[in-house]
This record gives sequence, structure tokens and C-alpha cells, in this order.
Amino acid sequence: MPAYIFVSGGVLSGLGKGIVTASVGRILISRGYKVTSIKIDPYLNYDAGTLRPTEHGEVFVTEDGGETDEDLGHYERFLGINLTKNHNITTGKIYQRVIEKERRGEYLGKTVEAIPHVTNEIKDWIRKIGESEKVDFVLVEIGGTVGEYQNELYYRAARMMKTEGESVLFVHVVYLPIPKHLREMKTKPAQQSVELLGKFGIIPDFIVTRAEREIDEIRKEKLAVMCNIRKEDIISAPDIELTYEVPIYFEKQKLGEKILQKLNLPSKHSDLKEWENRVFALKNSNEVVKIAIVGKYFDSGEFELPDSYVSVIEAVKHACAEVKAKPIIERINSKDFEKDESRVEILKNFDGVIVPGGFGASGVEGKIKAIEFARKNNIPFLGLCYGFQLSVVEFARNVCGLEKANTTEVDERTPHPVVDLLPWQKELLKEKKYGATMRLGGQVVKIKKGTLAFKLYQKEEVIERFRHRYEVNPAYLEILEKNGLVFSGFSKKEENIVQIGELKDHRFFLGTQFHPEFTSKFLKPSPIFVGFIKACLGRLK
Ligand code: GLN
Repeated sequence: MPAYIFVSGGVLSGLGKGIVTASVGRILISRGYKVTSIKIDPYLNYDAGTLRPTEHGEVFVTEDGGETDEDLGHYERFLGINLTKNHNITTGKIYQRVIEKERRGEYLGKTVEAIPHVTNEIKDWIRKIGESEKVDFVLVEIGGTVGEYQNELYYRAARMMKTEGESVLFVHVVYLPIPKHLREMKTKPAQQSVELLGKFGIIPDFIVTRAEREIDEIRKEKLAVMCNIRKEDIISAPDIELTYEVPIYFEKQKLGEKILQKLNLPSKHSDLKEWENRVFALKNSNEVVKIAIVGKYFDSGEFELPDSYVSVIEAVKHACAEVKAKPIIERINSKDFEKDESRVEILKNFDGVIVPGGFGASGVEGKIKAIEFARKNNIPFLGLCYGFQLSVVEFARNVCGLEKANTTEVDERTPHPVVDLLPWQKELLKEKKYGATMRLGGQVVKIKKGTLAFKLYQKEEVIERFRHRYEVNPAYLEILEKNGLVFSGFSKKEENIVQIGELKDHRFFLGTQFHPEFTSKFLKPSPIFVGFIKACLGRLK
């Protein structure tokens, strides 16, 4: 029977519960245990597919085509495993199941209620994952903070699992503010959030204290007394440079051993060597590589959001750790290049340019400017999904002389629809079917020998993850190829669907219809990103 570790949050959202969860997983894996992880999102959307990135952060895509919360990306990158759509529970999914059961008459004339029917559904879902995957640990992160009405049933379900005899631990992540005018670290909001947990009968086994700085002894003692917990079970998690350091940090505080002790499990030898080597390389390498990400999902009101391209940013770091270089990543808003074209010159200061995925017309002309600049100035370029499609538009316009060429996503009446809807997408859009109807998830890509793509993968077939409705229009393949664009990857299943495009006489110019950032792991980076970073450093032979 697996053990279940629930990770909850208090005081603030956005504390990095996902990283805490993933780091707990990594330290257990480093001790030879088998781990899986679930994210609970208490909203009513069925999945994250129809949520705007500036609203919810990046939409992560699992191999089975789930459009999930970005925390699943953290889990996959830290744990080195592939998860599925079932590893992201939403209230929408739970209620749908309950209502379907009710319609099928499965509740035998009973009044269907939040407790026990909804909580049962939650427990069943979590247990099914633990049992079917034959793991030692299931980590379950409850989204939001304790005290919100939305996630109450999940806390209750977690508590019930413990009452019902399951091995369950609770890790509560809190924030300790240091208000400027007081210059003292305050624990009261954390104490109150632990009290809120108590309302559900939960006393945390561990409290992880997020703060600008390390928690000191005095405050540790206070928190321990007030929250009914041993001092040594308060784990410090101050702000640090790299999220990949967190497991190392936790192990220094013997968190692995303490978890295993509480569950009466053998404390095996912990092997974080390879992990530590990569962290060291990222922090201390002498060679620096400067990457520009030219996108558009950056702003929310007066604030800049760090999360819209998190998988891309992490994939760059993974590749840098592999080749021992220190990344400097800057996010540039493509709309800047539309206001003033000369601003694109700023890309001269970078070793490489990435144009990531996206949707809709805004910011597109700025991205095309950036692609043109990278192509003409021999700056390594990586186009991901929309970034790839727009590189084809740029090439069609400026090299093939197809004036006003475009993607029909932006201009339905373009004389040269070099990027157009996949045929079966046309039907879906007519019926206004937007949820989970893109070409989604892992697909086999055939790689052409003798190309840059083949050099990077060293394989004739790879599985990569997709999320799109449009594709390079097969009617234009001939003219694009004649002018020098090389198509080096095709769909295995469907004929003539281009998955990778590249240029020959360039330091590195490659675009993928898929998202290699979604398969990149800290210990196993994406070959596409590794090749790109090597090219940026002038090391790709
Ligand atoms: N908007 C484009 C499409 O639907 C690209 C999608 C993406 O970048 N993920 O095909």
C-alpha cells in the first residue's frame, strides 16, 4: 500500500508548493523509492486547456494529451517521470463524475451530497492512482491556500484517508513575511493558517517555512509551540537562486530521513550526486549564454508574470546544466518590435533567440521581425510551435517572395496561406468546439537522416508532445523547399504533416511544430535544447 503525502499551503498562494512537492519527491526517489504526484486544482474548469496563460500560467501538456496545470511540469522535470491527465484533478472533473453516476442511478435513491459523495470520489481517484501505479509514495498537492471555500472538500478527503487507516503525512507550506517597517520575521499568519487546518482535524507533520531568509531558532520555537509540532519538523525554505537546489536544501535538514521515520520505512542511502553536479554547473560555470525569449504573455495589469513560459525557461536551464554553461534568460515582449522596428536590434546582444508557442494575432508581426533578424544575422534561432509556424511565414514572405503570406489564424484571406488549419480542425471550429480539441499530446515524429534534427536526436523516430490546430500547408511544401527550407521531421501517422523545419547555411535555425520543452527533464534534457545551447556557445560542430 502506498503512503500519501498531502502538501497544502497557507498565508499566500504562489509560495512554490509545486516545487516543494517535486523536491520531496526527488529526495524520496534519490533514496530508491518509487514516487508519483498529483495536483489538485479546485476550480470548476474541466482542465487548464481553455485558460489564458496570463490568467493561470503555462498550460502543460502530458504525453497522453492532457492540458494540465504547470505544476505537473515541475513534477515531471524533478521526478524524471511522465504523468497523465489523471494526475491533475479539478473540481470540474470530480463533479462531472458524480453527476454522471447520479444520472446512471448509481446512488440508489440517496440524496447526493458533497460529503460523502464528492469526498468519496476524490479519495477513490487518489487511491486508484496509488494502487494502479504500484508506487511507494503518492504526493498530492492541494492548490490554493487553506481557508478558501473552494478547496475545503479536498482537505476533508485527505483527513478521511488518514482516519480510514491509510499511511498519510501532511506537509504545510507557509510564508513568513518580514515587513519593511518592522524588519522582523513574523509567524502569526502562519500560525493562523495551521489553525485553519485544525478545523479539518489536520495537524501538519512538517511545516515548510518559505521566507526571504532562513527562519531563526527563536521563531522556530514559537512556531513549534503554537502549532503543536516538533521543532525539528519545521523545515526552512528561504528564497534561493535555483529551484533545483531545493531538494539538496531539504536533504541538509534531513527531511528524507524524517519522512521515512514517521512512516516506519527504511531510510535508504540517498544519492543526489548527479543532481548536485548539475546544480553546481548551472551556478558556477564560467561560460555564460544569453538567451532572448520573444513572446507576448507577460503582463497582468501593472505586473510582469514569470510563469507563462516556464517549461521553455526550464528546458534552457536543463540544457545549460548538461553542457556546463550559466544561462541568462531575458523575456522580451514582441509587441515592442511592432511599436518601433529598430528595437529589434537589441537581439544583437544575445547568443540565441527563442520564439515560443502562442495563439491569436497580437504580437505576431513583432515575432516575425525577430525571426527575420535572427535569420539574417546568423543568430541561433529556435521556433516552438507558433514560433515555428511564424518562421515559415517569414521565410515565405522574405525569401520565396510570397507577399502577404500568413497563417490563416491571423489572416483568413491571405493570398498565401502557408500555415493553415489541419483539415479535421476546420470541422471542430465550425461547431465551436474549443476544449481539448487540438492535436494534443505525444505523437511519433519521423526524422530525416542527414539533417540537423537527426544530428541532435541520433534517432529515426522520436515521440514529442503537441498542442496546435494549424500546420504548414502541404500545398506550399514544394516552393518552400525549392527556396532552401529543409523539412526534417514528419508525422508518422499522417502524411505530409511537417513537424520540423530548418535552414542549412545558418549557425542554427530550427523550428518544431511540437514542444520539446515539455519532455525535457533536469537529469535528461531535450536534445533540441542541448543542440541549440551548444550552437549559441559556438560548440555545435
Ligand atoms: N496557434 C498555433 C496553432 O494552434 C500554435 C499553437 C502553439 O503554439 N501551441 O497551431
